[in-house]
Amino acid sequence: MATGKETSPESYPTRYWHKVDDGRVQCDVCPRHCRLHEGQRGLCYVRGREGDEIVLYTYGRSSGFCIDPIEKKPLNHFLPGSAVLSFGTAGCNLACKFCQNWDMSKSREMDTLADAAMPDRLAQTAVEMGCRSIAFTYNDPVIFMEYAIDVARACREVGVKTVAVSAGYMDDAPRREFFSYMDAANIDLKAFTESFYHKICGGHLQNVLDTLKYIVHHTDVWLELTTLLIPGENDSDRELDEMTRWVVEQLGPNVPMHFTAFHPDWKMQDIPPTPSETLTRARQIALSNGVNYAYTGNVHDKTGGSTFCPSCHEVLIERDWYELGYWGLDTGGCCRACQAVIAGVFEAQPGGWGSKRVPIRLLQ
Ligand code: SF4
Repeated sequence: MATGKETSPESYPTRYWHKVDDGRVQCDVCPRHCRLHEGQRGLCYVRGREGDEIVLYTYGRSSGFCIDPIEKKPLNHFLPGSAVLSFGTAGCNLACKFCQNWDMSKSREMDTLADAAMPDRLAQTAVEMGCRSIAFTYNDPVIFMEYAIDVARACREVGVKTVAVSAGYMDDAPRREFFSYMDAANIDLKAFTESFYHKICGGHLQNVLDTLKYIVHHTDVWLELTTLLIPGENDSDRELDEMTRWVVEQLGPNVPMHFTAFHPDWKMQDIPPTPSETLTRARQIALSNGVNYAYTGNVHDKTGGSTFCPSCHEVLIERDWYELGYWGLDTGGCCRACQAVIAGVFEAQPGGWGSKRVPIRLLQ
């Protein structure tokens, strides 16, 4: 917790908090349960106490906008080939030492948030730019959930989908509300040991597993998982075996898993980048444990990046980085070779956005 001393930005009222006996106010959005005195901020730094309530300081404010391929989130089974309008704010409720977006997630400078963007304007921009979805990404939308939900509401009115890229570290009630507005999610399953979550991220594994089970069993949200493999920390055969078995047993075989490469960053500069063989090994362990769709990421690997039919093993969607090649799905989302139903959200044709990444500014 910290005492906010910079010029006070606009504050937006929030709902998930309660007063505790000692006079502090507890935020109930995530398991950190920050208990705040007047003027203090939570660990995420974007929620803080004003008077007797918790407010959000980043409503309607963004660290920038970019149009990306949906495969970059990564989502390989959700409107493949389509463009997604991506944005984030500042702050985070975990403290991962390997953070690959630390300039935004660890930002305490509200001037990082250069671009103002109210929900209707954002939804309209997605339509104008031909984006099929908006992604809350770069930092975790859990901590700015009121803003993300209002953007999702505005998107629904104009037929734009919403995607949450999150660590899934949140409490039950906000979890239920938040995911009732999302269409797809990529959740980080950062490791499969409590010690990793505790020592390296400052969080707990079980809460993330609860989020994954909630999404699969209680919502229609399309879910994919990402694990950033860090040499020596979360990449042992044993851990990958336990993780992928759990995914198949608890979530089913059709939740795609992405194993992505770490590069030295933030407080983990002394660990080498992940060798591509590690990603391939993780993918093989997942496939052999029954995961139907397993991918490598952040490396050039056409096989590891492409989708194969779990039934006849023919290539279904060929990918080279974020560029799509061969398309082996019929108009109903089935394998053209064997007619097996392929899990995901597909349209009759793939999108044609390609691998472009286009930063944009919003006109107010
Ligand atoms: S969302 Fe932020 S303020 Fe609320 S409990 Fe989590 S870290 Fe603390």
